[in-house]
Order: sequence, then structure tokens, then C-alpha cells
Amino acid sequence: MPGAVKKRTRTSETKKSQHIRNDDLKLILLGNLRYFHDDPYSISLNYYLVAQGSYYGGKASYVKGGSQQLSNALVSVIEENGGTVKLNSLAVEIIFKNDQPSGVRYESVKGKTKEEFSDYAGVIIVNASVPALAEKLLPGNHGIELSEKIKYIKIGATLLTVYFGFSKSLREVGNRYYSTFVFDPAIKTQKDILQNNHSGFETRSFTLVDYSQLDSGLATGGKGVGAVCCIDYASDWEGMDRKFYLKKKDHVAETIVARCEKLIPGFRNALEFVEVGTPLTVNHYTLNPTGAVYGFAQNPGKPTDYLNALPESIYVASAWGKFGGGFSGSIYSGFMTALDVLRKNRTSNRSN
Ligand SMILES: Cc1cc2nc3c(=O)[nH]c(=O)nc-3n(C[C@H](O)[C@H](O)[C@H](O)COP(=O)(O)OP(=O)(O)OC[C@H]3O[C@@H](n4cnc5c(N)ncnc54)[C@H](O)[C@@H]3O)c2cc1C
Repeated sequence: MPGAVKKRTRTSETKKSQHIRNDDLKLILLGNLRYFHDDPYSISLNYYLVAQGSYYGGKASYVKGGSQQLSNALVSVIEENGGTVKLNSLAVEIIFKNDQPSGVRYESVKGKTKEEFSDYAGVIIVNASVPALAEKLLPGNHGIELSEKIKYIKIGATLLTVYFGFSKSLREVGNRYYSTFVFDPAIKTQKDILQNNHSGFETRSFTLVDYSQLDSGLATGGKGVGAVCCIDYASDWEGMDRKFYLKKKDHVAETIVARCEKLIPGFRNALEFVEVGTPLTVNHYTLNPTGAVYGFAQNPGKPTDYLNALPESIYVASAWGKFGGGFSGSIYSGFMTALDVLRKNRTSNRSN
């Protein structure tokens, strides 16, 4: 890591090739690449070392009860400290007064009615995507300036997920692993990974997660929950009519179930429920462009100076911030933002 910091333009691939010659070993080390990116030739070595180091160090953790519990815990902290969380509310514009950010205009939906509100604050922390901040939320020149700064930064990968409900746990069916990373035999070297991520679901690499291997708190009454995820692209789902879209989702579900059955005989028999979430589903719920799950792509040398183009009292605390995506990146981003705001408040109180 200390050596890599000085060479921000290197990819994980260059480093691996320098030290490891066996292609199978390289592929094993890249088994979980899709947790960060879609191509070993374009992921920053620094980013890869931090994220993967955490996995190899055994520091991957699971939030008992699922990630909603994390959101619930954060809501409790906000409410215990006198804050309010407004659901079903869409921020549509950051309000400026005397060229200073002073509040947020937002639309709240209740049943079939939509109402518009404004709230005011000295500091505005944005969790919406940075492209949406540039194109929709920041008015006038502020938005144009940010758009200019990000116009060459690539948006990162997204995921397709197949969610499973089982009549009994997969552990009972005979599975022994929490995560199983599957490469199609057509992948011989790292060079084949990106192309495979664009291939049909019959051959696309995937991860099967079996929550019954942990004390996940997800299923009761002897039932089980699992999921498969693979890298996917919104462009492969856009522009279809609804009927074709649903048919394609069914086809993907069937294809993945058949591949899981091969891996774990009895998988299909235990299956009670299956649902597919596409990149368009992710986009629908998060409003992230192209359904990107990790914000901007972590290409070598990815700039972060777009954050300096923001007006002083606007902060980005999300996967689109300095630390990238995933839970860890987003949480660091939130934590560091809170420290920044507190530090700045302290400094301005001192000088007053
Ligand atoms: C299927 C799937 C599996 C994943 N698995 C993992 C995993 O195992 N480990 C891991 O670390 N990461 C995982 N990730 C990635 C991780 O969920 C994200 O990187 C992380 O949640 C990003 O957090 P965020 O704070 O940037 O915001 P997001 O989680 O993207 O949420 C943004 C929120 O802001 C809201 N919003 C957006 N625009 C507006 C607006 N204008 N007004 C009001 N609200 C708005 C959205 O509705 C949403 O609620 C997974 C992602 C997916 C989709």
C-alpha cells in the first residue's frame, strides 16, 4: 500500500502481473471483483488494495437482520438528537440566497397527492448522486461548474440481483458456504472477465450468497433466504416494453436457478420464491444514474476535485464522495463529512 499510494495511475492488474504468474491464482484473487468494479484492467490499485485488504483480513461483516437495520439505527440516532426523517420526499432543488446555499425545496407524496415544501439550514449534506446534484439540484452556474468537473469521470458498475426464498435453509439442502463465486469455464484469464460480464446469463459469472450460513436473522420458521448477484448494465434493459422486460427477468431467474441447481442439487426443490432486481430496479429506488451501486468508477487516478467545486456549505456524503461506494465507502464518507462540519463550526465559533 505505501508504494502504491505514490503511483495512483496503476491498475490492480499491473500489480498482480508483477508478482503472480499463475492465471488461476489471479482469478481466485479476483473472485469478488464485482463487489467493487467490473474490470481488473481499469480498477485503481489503491482502491483495490484497501477494499480487498479488508476482505482478506477477514473484516467483511454482515448487518444482522439485513441492511434495513442499519438504516433504522441511523434513523434512531437522528431522531434521538432532535432530527426528523422525511420519507417519500424528493429533494428537487437547493435554494440559494445571496449566492449562498440556504435550504432545500422538496416534494412529498402522500397517497395520490404531491405537495411542495422548503426547509432551511446553514449546512446541506447531499446523498443524491453527484450527476443529479449537478444536473438537477444545483441551480445555474453552480450546476454547470460541477457538470464540467465530472464530465470525464466514468460512472461505476451496477448489479443484477436474483433474490430467493426457500422452504428450508440451503444449509439443510447441503450447501456449506456463505459466498460462492462462480466463473464460467470460458474465463481462462483476467482478460476474459469484462467480456464475460456482458455475456448471456447462461455464462455470466455470479456470486451466490447463502444467508443460512450466518446468524443473519433474515428467515424464521426453518425457512431460508439467498441471493445471486452479477455485474450488469442498465443499457441492456432500457427501451423494452413492460411485457418483454418481465419475460426477460423470468428468463434470467430460470437460467440462474438452473445453474444454482447444478451447484447445489436440491436447490430448485427448496425454492419457494424468486424475484429479479435489474439495474433499472436499482435506479428506480436509489435514483442513481444507470443504477450505479458504487458511485463513480474507481479508475486509476480518478479525480476528487469535483468536491472542491461545491459551494462551501454543501457536502457530499455517499458512494459518490471521496471514499467510493459500498457500505464502508459510504459510511466513511458520512463520518468524515460529520467531522468536517463539526470542525468548521468549531473554527467559525472560535473566530466569532
Ligand atoms: C443488490 C445490491 C447489493 C449490494 N451489496 C452490497 C454489499 O454486500 N456490501 C456493500 O458494501 N455494498 C453493497 N451494495 C452497494 C451499497 O448498497 C451502496 O454502495 C451504498 O448503499 C451506497 O450508499 P449511499 O449512501 O451512496 O446511497 P444509496 O444507498 O444509493 O441511497 C441513496 C438514497 O437517497 C435517495 N435519494 C436519491 N436522490 C434523492 C433526492 N433527490 N431526494 C431525496 N432522496 C433521494 C434514494 O432514494 C436512496 O434512498 C449493494 C448494492 C446493491 C444494489
